[in-house]
Amino acid sequence: MIVRKAVFFAAVAAFFCLWSCGSGTDSAENKVSSRDIFAMDTYMSLKAYGDSGDKALDEAEKRIYEIERELSAVSEGSDIYRLNHACGEALTLSDDAAILIKKAVDIGSRTGGALDITVYPIVKEWGFTTGDYKIPQPTVLEELLQNVDYRKLHIDGNKVRLPENAEIDLGALAKGYTGDEIMKIMAKNGITSAVVSLGGNVQALGSKPDGSDWRVAVRDPFSPDRDMCVVETSGRAVVTSGNYERFFIGEDGSRYCHIIDPKSGFPSDNGLVSVTVIGESGLECDALSTALFVMGSEKAAAFASSAAGYDVILVTDDKRILYTDGLSLENISEMAAEVITVE
Ligand code: AMP
Ligand code: MG
Repeated sequence: MIVRKAVFFAAVAAFFCLWSCGSGTDSAENKVSSRDIFAMDTYMSLKAYGDSGDKALDEAEKRIYEIERELSAVSEGSDIYRLNHACGEALTLSDDAAILIKKAVDIGSRTGGALDITVYPIVKEWGFTTGDYKIPQPTVLEELLQNVDYRKLHIDGNKVRLPENAEIDLGALAKGYTGDEIMKIMAKNGITSAVVSLGGNVQALGSKPDGSDWRVAVRDPFSPDRDMCVVETSGRAVVTSGNYERFFIGEDGSRYCHIIDPKSGFPSDNGLVSVTVIGESGLECDALSTALFVMGSEKAAAFASSAAGYDVILVTDDKRILYTDGLSLENISEMAAEVITVE
């Protein structure tokens, strides 16, 4: 099998041109503090305007590592690792883990099971956790699929029980939640203007210091080193799931990406190459971008047309961009654009 390692793109936003850590002033003399860190298997850039920026970034950095310690599926001792190895026993989890598991179950049922955090053993079998990629044997997939069903999780407050043989991972929504938590820390420190890029997730607090919108570039999934369009927004998260983020090319020449369709156990190939969800909650945008990717273009467009409070950009494998009518996109690259009417 020819295994090609996916090029890893650390951020979706082009405007995050390599900040160095530290503080200073921007061209309009606003005090700005910035920091680059590596956590949750991705590069993160944080930027805060105002006198308390450095203090807010210190707290944000601590919080990022705390969430990572609690939620990592691979670190022994994390809540998720302990739950995955509890052999069917109930465990009392941290608030962070319990909040995310409840949200995952909620979005799982709102998306017909497209988001299913119990798909983790299948993600591992394809090699997406190690980079040792392979197309699993059909009989192995069939057996693993028996244990994929988020509805079998038992949740009672912070007490969670997984069926024996089931395992979860929160990779589809943890960064979105982390963005929300960082924004809370910024606001608590009196910051009114901040922006972070956590891998593919960009999240803003308020607008730029001059009152204008942040300009967030979304990557072109067909040429991920280029931008596809720019979204202008304030106080919202812009989260993308795409088939170019982590993938391998199999012997059959097909591309296999890291987002798994829980119904088939195969990497999702339902007509979409990227999904961007824009809204106030980073957590919901993150969970939804993964789920809509699995749902495919028709179901995702129908979902987007009735999901109040969100804007969505879908890119199809035949090079169409479908986006909700609340958005005004700038600089759309040479693709056919269609507007999804929001009911
Ligand atoms: P994202 O990059 O936010 O779309 O999340 C993708 C990550 O979520 C993958 O790397 C897997 O760890 C996990 N994942 C893959 N497919 C699913 C799915 N259908 N439901 C929930 N989590 C998934
Ligand atoms: Mg996601």
